[in-house]
Amino acid sequence: MDFNKFFEKTNKKLSHNMLIVLIILLSIAIIAVIGGYLRKSGAPAVPQASSSTVEPLETPPMVVIDAGHGGWEPGAGNGQINEKDVVLDISLEIEKLLAQKGIEYLMIRTDDTYVSLEDRAKIANEKKGRLFISIHNNSFTDSAQSGILTAYNPNSPTGRDIAQVMQSKLSDIGMRNRDIMPRPNLYVLRHTEMPALLLEIGFISNKKDLKLMTDGDFQQKCAQRIVSGIEEILKDFILAPGTAAGEESPEGD
Ligand SMILES: [Zn+2]
Repeated sequence: MDFNKFFEKTNKKLSHNMLIVLIILLSIAIIAVIGGYLRKSGAPAVPQASSSTVEPLETPPMVVIDAGHGGWEPGAGNGQINEKDVVLDISLEIEKLLAQKGIEYLMIRTDDTYVSLEDRAKIANEKKGRLFISIHNNSFTDSAQSGILTAYNPNSPTGRDIAQVMQSKLSDIGMRNRDIMPRPNLYVLRHTEMPALLLEIGFISNKKDLKLMTDGDFQQKCAQRIVSGIEEILKDFILAPGTAAGEESPEGD
């Protein structure tokens, strides 16, 4: 064996191997540097992108469901029964149906919390609701007074029409039909920038109405009728071609 040749060969092999190792090390270094740079520039870009896309991706609620009163403000009452609880029960039934039907909605409250009238309107306006339905019970010193009614803002262009649609669904529900009622000064009807209705589901001060409004089956039936009204109003007044996308309630006092 030629020793010199062998040595030369080994040397060549060695330097060849070293070159490969060097290339690998260099590649690792380059990858590390590029990776570091990408991480540095990429890291803030990712949350930025996701946080900036949250709002545009949000679907505006078609219907805002406003369970009246709540928290320290019980509304009307009769014995142990408070309006805030009755209207929440009915509103939660409405929520279930809207979710089942895939109608976009927003609940002003889903538990026993206080929300001011100002915030109710503000939330609905900010979230760009298309229809606002407020759920209440009536009450009167004369316990003989009873029945169900739909209140609307007479200054709203479609107020009376959509009130008629809603009341037609509720008129034969088992409570006295008190028909529709113009209420120009109700805060949530006045300050919501979308068609709005306020439903007075029976008189809590009336024995027969009280029994109905606290009955689970009646609450369910009531929610079904209200959602049926919502669907018809959405179809004929909110989503119908040629209908203005947003109806402005008159501003100011
Ligand atoms: Zn009320």
